[in-house]
Parts: sequence; C-alpha cells; structure tokens
Amino acid sequence: MKVESSRFIRSAVSRGDFLDDHHPEIAFAGRSNVGKSSLLNRLLGRKGLAKISSTPGRTRAINYFLINSRFYFVDLPGYGYAKVSKDERRGWGKLMESYFRHAGSRSHVVLLVDAKVGATPLDVQAFDFLGSVGRLPTVVATKADRVARGRRKAALDAIRGNLALDERLEIIPFSARSGEGVKKLWGEIDEKLRSSESITKGKKR
Ligand code: GDP
Repeated sequence: MKVESSRFIRSAVSRGDFLDDHHPEIAFAGRSNVGKSSLLNRLLGRKGLAKISSTPGRTRAINYFLINSRFYFVDLPGYGYAKVSKDERRGWGKLMESYFRHAGSRSHVVLLVDAKVGATPLDVQAFDFLGSVGRLPTVVATKADRVARGRRKAALDAIRGNLALDERLEIIPFSARSGEGVKKLWGEIDEKLRSSESITKGKKR
C-alpha cells in the first residue's frame, strides 16, 4: 500500500468522542513499550506521527489517524503501565468495550506482542478480552530483529501456545528497525480493509 497521506484526527477519551463516518478502522493494541509507535511510524513512513499518541493527555486515549482519506489507524491506549490503579484498569476495559461496540465490524484489531519477551499474562488477558468482544486479532511479533533467526520459530510457537492461537492463523514477525514484516502486515491490513469495505457496500445496497 502506498501511503499518500496520514494525519492525526483526534483523541477519544469517552464514547462521545468516537468517530462515526463509516471509514474502516485498523486498531492497534499492545502493552506499553511493545513497539507500537515505532511500528505505526514505520508503516506510515513518518517518523514523528505516532508520537502524538504519547504526548501528555493522550496516552490513555484512543487516537485516530486518517490514512489516504480512506481508512483510520486507531492507536488504542497501551496497557500494563506499572503504576496503574484498579480503577484505571477498569476504565481502560470500559473504554475498549464501548469502542468495539461503537466501531462494530468496521474495525479490525492488530495485537502486538514482543517477539523476545513473548506473550505476557497481560497480553493473554488482552487477547482474551478481544475474544470476549468478538474480535480475533491479527497477531504481530514486534522487535523481531532481537530474536536470532534460529530461535524464531520457537519464539513464535511460544506466543501461539500462550495465546492458544489457532495454527491456521499466522503470527507476523515485524521489525521497525529493519523493516521486516512491513510488506506482509500491509498485505494483511489491505485484505481486512477490502473485506470491511465490501461489507459496508453490501449494507448500503
Ligand atoms: P510503544 O510504547 O509501544 O509505543 O513503544 P515504542 O515504539 O516507543 O518502543 C519502545 C522501545 O522499543 C523503544 O526503545 C524503541 O526504540 C524500541 N523498539 C521499537 N521497535 C523496535 C524494533 O523493531 N527493534 C528494536 N530492536 N527495538 C525496537
């Protein structure tokens, strides 16, 4: 996919802020520090864009970026900050639930897991949570350059095992540093966008 334009649209902290213009949405979820901003910047070919999400006041928000005037990248707030109260964690869950209810089948989720660290209990929780709101995410293993080629398969198998992910679903190794996986992930996103757009067209008819 050729990215011709990408721009920050808005931050949402409650349901009144969610966008509602029927463009498909690709939502990115992951533990804080998993490499989400680096991945987004790499996909979009823009160094500073995803940094917007980490500016004060936006880290706990859902941040929307409009790509090619056709679809949104939705940067979901990172989970797993060390010092998060129970209330805040509950708040995260509530915001996510209402986001998914609002976006419906328009949105597809990409879940990022650190290739070397593997799927932590928090990642498993996030994956299960997504399942509970009817989502089967595309799983991406970030910072793949940190895992030697010879250990790759074992690392990906471990993630698959922890998430209990179906064997037919591929885990995409990705490196913002080397560019590995960029093409593959765009291919996957493209496919999801096409199926989402054909559903939307079908509904209009
Ligand atoms: P975020 O909190 O999920 O947005 O994570 P960042 O994108 O800010 O990355 C967290 C840390 O991981 C930073 O120190 C990045 O330099 C590093 N990082 C991100 N992507 C990669 C990668 O592909 N390879 C390596 N080796 N490090 C990465």
